[in-house]
Amino acid sequence: MRKWDPECPDCRGSGWSLVSRGGTEAVVPCPSCGAEDRLGQLLRRASIPNRYRSKDFRSYHPDPKFSSQLEALSGSIRFAETFPQVHRGLLFSGPCGVGKTHLAVAVLKNLVLEKQVSARFVDETELLRRLQYSYGPDSPETEREVLWPLYSAGLLVWDDLGAGRPTEWVAETIRTILNYRYTRQKQIVLTTNLPLKSAGGGYSENLGREQNLAERIGAPLYSRIMEMCQVVEMDGRDFRRQVYKASLDAQQV
Ligand code: ADP
Repeated sequence: MRKWDPECPDCRGSGWSLVSRGGTEAVVPCPSCGAEDRLGQLLRRASIPNRYRSKDFRSYHPDPKFSSQLEALSGSIRFAETFPQVHRGLLFSGPCGVGKTHLAVAVLKNLVLEKQVSARFVDETELLRRLQYSYGPDSPETEREVLWPLYSAGLLVWDDLGAGRPTEWVAETIRTILNYRYTRQKQIVLTTNLPLKSAGGGYSENLGREQNLAERIGAPLYSRIMEMCQVVEMDGRDFRRQVYKASLDAQQV
């Protein structure tokens, strides 16, 4: 872990100071020795979308009806605490709205704030759009500028794996980034809404059921990801719908 200025009178090199806010004490990045600037810079570079900026472990409340959510939370905390001595990344899998992206962002933010890891968040659909745009003459960024942070980041959070249209170009782009990271033992945290395996049910191939992740991204990429990541399967209800329903119920009272 990086040490800040050991002579700093406020944090003595820890990078953190204790401040009093509204009668309660809080630990914040030390404003006196540059830790605050450095952490702010790392957080900005992480490119966390606005709607997820406030998400962290404390704001994730597992639904007691679904034990997988509590296990996902404790597994995520364990991963962040153990990092960088982790052998594999994480693959959060499960239906929409169960908090996969929330936990992936919580891991990222924890590693930035606690261990000054240079981390990067990327949403697959947004990445593919930026990449395609980067080939045009009016693009403000080159392909290399889009891709380099994904190769070099100490932790890469890849949101919504398999969401992009599954062309060979898409699979090749993802494969190249992951292979680069794999050979350098750089960790990734992935989320996907697609089921990992087919639900079965006796249908003939691809008829009457959703594609699974392996079918969507192709077997070679799927097996590379399984090698690189520990699977965190989550189930539960769509949190967004519950919040919406709760607000409708409250309006009706
Ligand atoms: P997913 O990635 O699984 O589709 P998200 O992480 O995007 O789901 O969650 C959707 C919204 O619901 C986000 O605002 C997230 O913070 C919130 N959310 C989901 N599950 C929980 C939870 N258990 N506790 C608190 N917020 C949650």
